[in-house]
Amino acid sequence: RKKFKMMSLIIGLMMLTSLFAGCSSKKDDKIVIGLSLPTQQEERWVRDKEKMEAVAKELGVELKVQVANNDLSQQDSQAKNLIAQGVDALIVAPQDASAAASIVDEAAKEGIKVISYDRLIMNTENIDVYISFDNVKVGELQGKYITDLVPEGNYFLMAGAPTDNNATLFKEGAMKYIQPLVDSGKIKVLVDQPVDDWKPENALKIVENALTANNNKVDAILAPNDGTAGGAVQALAAQGLDGKVPITGQDAELAGAIRIVEGTQTMTIFKDTRLLGEEAIKAAVALVKGEKLEDANQTVNNNSVDVPSILLTPFAVDKDNIDELLIDSGYLKKEDVYRE
Ligand code: BGC
Repeated sequence: RKKFKMMSLIIGLMMLTSLFAGCSSKKDDKIVIGLSLPTQQEERWVRDKEKMEAVAKELGVELKVQVANNDLSQQDSQAKNLIAQGVDALIVAPQDASAAASIVDEAAKEGIKVISYDRLIMNTENIDVYISFDNVKVGELQGKYITDLVPEGNYFLMAGAPTDNNATLFKEGAMKYIQPLVDSGKIKVLVDQPVDDWKPENALKIVENALTANNNKVDAILAPNDGTAGGAVQALAAQGLDGKVPITGQDAELAGAIRIVEGTQTMTIFKDTRLLGEEAIKAAVALVKGEKLEDANQTVNNNSVDVPSILLTPFAVDKDNIDELLIDSGYLKKEDVYRE
């Protein structure tokens, strides 16, 4: 009798264990994607994250998200932690283009697929795909717009964070239009500075100092994104110059769009982060399943190899096409952009 009880207990336990094992192996089938973002400082990164979470949910994959607060060592430990948790794919938008190579190399050792998201990770052979916009084109759109509008005069030039490869590409694109006019003596560059960490307050300081040094004599400002444009506009406003000096931007942030309709910022660049986020999750799933990425039909060199790339198209937006591009597309709401 006692023996029988013992036996049934053992059998019961064995059944329970196998049930649990069954559950966990079922759970193992679910694709797990790690996402390491540099920041949520700019509105666009908030939207990237939201879109990726939504698409992951739709596709039934698990997404583990980490945000590094513009800190490269924080990103390093967060991403390596995701690797240690055994994610199947890792999407990384690097805070520091070169430092992030060590994350990618470690992921590759573990057989984890890696996507370099929006910003290219430099000096590594281990990126499966780079998904971004045509970033040189972004700069070209900014440079063409501002030089068409202000073909001569005094320019302040700002570039994005030196740790971000995109900043180099944006500047390269813009200079295709600005440099020839500098060479012909039409444009005078009074200031040419990068904005550390893309921080609006750093842009504010740069423009404040440049205005002081040049007795407010500025005809145009190249700002690499809406955040830095916001800082620059604040510095202009302190001198009563807001709305009087054409200034570029990028990201189609709500604050940028509001400045465009109010006339204190001249243009922005629309990069539809909804498409980018969706591409990234879909690519991660495809890579994990061992499928070929049909859209990765270009390459971008990262100082180590030509990285297979998917590059989406950016668009220039100003007050004339803002309704069509940003409102009709549902990216921003009319009532938010046109305030009373
Ligand atoms: C992105 C921009 C963004 C900037 C600051 C760049 O890498 O491409 O959209 O404004 O980083 O976060």
